[in-house]
Amino acid sequence: MPAVASPELFDKIVNLTKRRGFVYPSAEIYGGFRSTYDYGPLGVLLLRNVKDAWWRSMVQLRSDVVGLDASILSPPAVWEASGHLANFTDPLVDCTSCNSRLREDKLADPDVCPVCGAEGSFTEARHFNLMFKTQAGPVEEEGAVAYLRPETAQGMFINFKNVIDTTRVRPPFGIAQIGKSFRNEITPGQFVFRTREFEQMELEYFVHPDEAQDSYEYWCNERYQWYLDHGIPADELRLRAHDSDELSHYSSATSDVEYLFPWGWDELEGVANRGDYDLTQHAEASGEKLEWFDQAENVRWRPYVIEPAAGATRTAMAFLMAAYHEEEVRGETRVVLRFHHRIAPYKVAVLPLSKKPELAGPASELAADLRGSFMCDYDATQSIGRRYRRQDELGTPYCVTYDFDSLEDHAVTIRDRDSMEQERIDISQVRAYLTERFT
Ligand code: ATP
Repeated sequence: MPAVASPELFDKIVNLTKRRGFVYPSAEIYGGFRSTYDYGPLGVLLLRNVKDAWWRSMVQLRSDVVGLDASILSPPAVWEASGHLANFTDPLVDCTSCNSRLREDKLADPDVCPVCGAEGSFTEARHFNLMFKTQAGPVEEEGAVAYLRPETAQGMFINFKNVIDTTRVRPPFGIAQIGKSFRNEITPGQFVFRTREFEQMELEYFVHPDEAQDSYEYWCNERYQWYLDHGIPADELRLRAHDSDELSHYSSATSDVEYLFPWGWDELEGVANRGDYDLTQHAEASGEKLEWFDQAENVRWRPYVIEPAAGATRTAMAFLMAAYHEEEVRGETRVVLRFHHRIAPYKVAVLPLSKKPELAGPASELAADLRGSFMCDYDATQSIGRRYRRQDELGTPYCVTYDFDSLEDHAVTIRDRDSMEQERIDISQVRAYLTERFT
């Protein structure tokens, strides 16, 4: 059966993320600040794991990619050259009936206001620039204008020369970066899907122009596979090539990796062949030679760029949705987040059967020992059944229960989150047992 979008799932996820400490509305005690969110104790682990999994695949496991962490504040010259000052706009329309401001290109019906239902009430579309403009330094003057970056990509282009001059890279090679980006979105929404402050995970891969098409296809497949490898089911994921009228002016090909969100298919990541647009723009504006010099052949050429650009916060939300399952267990509904082990916030929880010191003492020692290798939760309250349910809702792959027999046989029970099967193993084997399953 093909997967279908499920709107009820959305409410359940939003509810669970608040209840279990994944995501809180920002500034909630002051009534909240629209479209910004804080990641709670569980959410920060989830988000970090998404970013670590990306970094591991894109940087650590590769010999041809290096990392970067560029500044968020940047001068207008960068955005002038990149084209963002002129073109990073969305078409904004006002509804003259209810005064809502909406993005014209996202309207289901271009004549009907989705807020008040009025027909033909929209103004002409205006170009609204999405960049946040601010002031750097104590003097308010034109020369002090700075922008919060709306994407991490420009950091890679303006450091292209630094990276080739200071490291051993040679094309084809990539520069990867994870970090916050800011866009003054007209219609933020759908929880953390579209926010004004978010995190991106981007790679700029520099190749010879003749290799650009092959490299583009390679990265489309790599990135699609990455989501499958980290727990998104194949029937909830697709790679969609842009039609020619959807392409940005500098891109000769773009494909989106899309997830079947509760409201339908929507973008997780875009993979684009940007040609030599960015390096050419920055070379012209800065006067620097942004080229590769091939010493053996004694020729200079400007690389093309293949860019897989993903959202960390959006991806975390997709992993949450894909992991969410409800099932009947002995007449009760069990909610379980079947996260891939790399994505799961806690890898293991240690649960003493009773709070009594003779069990709690050695159980906390075991937890302290495991913490050296894994993110480990410890929980001594409530019945063991309820504690298992709680860990299921957090997506913890394994629970280790220390009981009265453990005092005699030096063994513990390990419970598997997905099968709920339990095994008795020697305490000295717990670390090896988990390590084996987490690689
Ligand atoms: P959209 O069409 O959804 O506005 P986009 O095509 O402009 O997104 P890109 O500029 O390609 O997005 O950014 C790359 C990725 O960054 C997106 O695929 C998405 O995962 C993430 N992203 C972009 N804007 C936001 C946002 N406002 N909130 C959360 N994530 C975002």
